Amino acid sequence: MAVDRHINFFELSDACKKPGCPLCRIVGDRAERYIDNMLFEHVSDRSFRKAHRLAGGFCDYHSRGLISFRDGLAVAIMGRDILEDRIVSFKTRKPWKPKERCPICVERDRIEVEYLGFMAGSGGESDDERDLCTAFTASEGLCAPHYGRLLELYKKVPQWITAFHEHKFEELIARVNQFIELSAYGRQEEFHALPEKDQVVWKELALELRGMVD
Ligand SMILES: [Zn+2]
Ligand SMILES: [Zn+2]
Repeated sequence: MAVDRHINFFELSDACKKPGCPLCRIVGDRAERYIDNMLFEHVSDRSFRKAHRLAGGFCDYHSRGLISFRDGLAVAIMGRDILEDRIVSFKTRKPWKPKERCPICVERDRIEVEYLGFMAGSGGESDDERDLCTAFTASEGLCAPHYGRLLELYKKVPQWITAFHEHKFEELIARVNQFIELSAYGRQEEFHALPEKDQVVWKELALELRGMVD
C-alpha cells in the first residue's frame, strides 16, 4: 500500500472518532496548521507570495486569524503587498479585482478532492477499507456540502457510503419535521418531553448544511 493512502486511512479513521463531519475536521486541522506553521516559511517563498498577491490576500474567512498571529513580521510582509496594490487602485480609481482565489481555499479544495477520491475508492475490499467503513459508519458522517461534493465529483460511490448518508439525512429531516410540528402552540408538553438533542435539532441542521469547514 502506498504511504499516502495509508496516511489517508489513518487520518480519516482518526477524524471519525471525533464529533462532526470527519472531512471538515481534517480540512480545518490542516488549514490551521497551514496558517500556523507554514505561513512563516512561505513568506520567503516567491511563488506563494505571488499567489497570495494575485488573490488579493486571504479570503475573509481565512484572514480572520491574522490578527492573533505570533509572527507580526510575516503578516506585515504579506499585507504590504496587498496594500501597495490597493493604493494603486485607489489612485487610479480602477476597481480592485484580484485574479486568483485565496491560497488557503485552493489548498482546502485540493485536500477535499484528495480525501473524497480516497473515500470513493474505498469499496470495502481490503482490511483497511473495512476498518474505515466501520469507523466511518460509527461517525456523524459527511456534512451536506461534503457529501454533495463527493457525488458531484465521483459517479461511482461505494454503496455503504450512499446508504449511510441517505439514512443520515432522512433521519435528520424527520427530526426537523418533528421539531417544527411540536413547536406549534399547544404542544409545549410534547416538545419538552423530547430528548435534549431533538429540542435543539435546528443547531445540528445549521451545522450540517454549512459544514464546519475550517
Ligand atoms: Zn464536512
Ligand atoms: Zn480562504
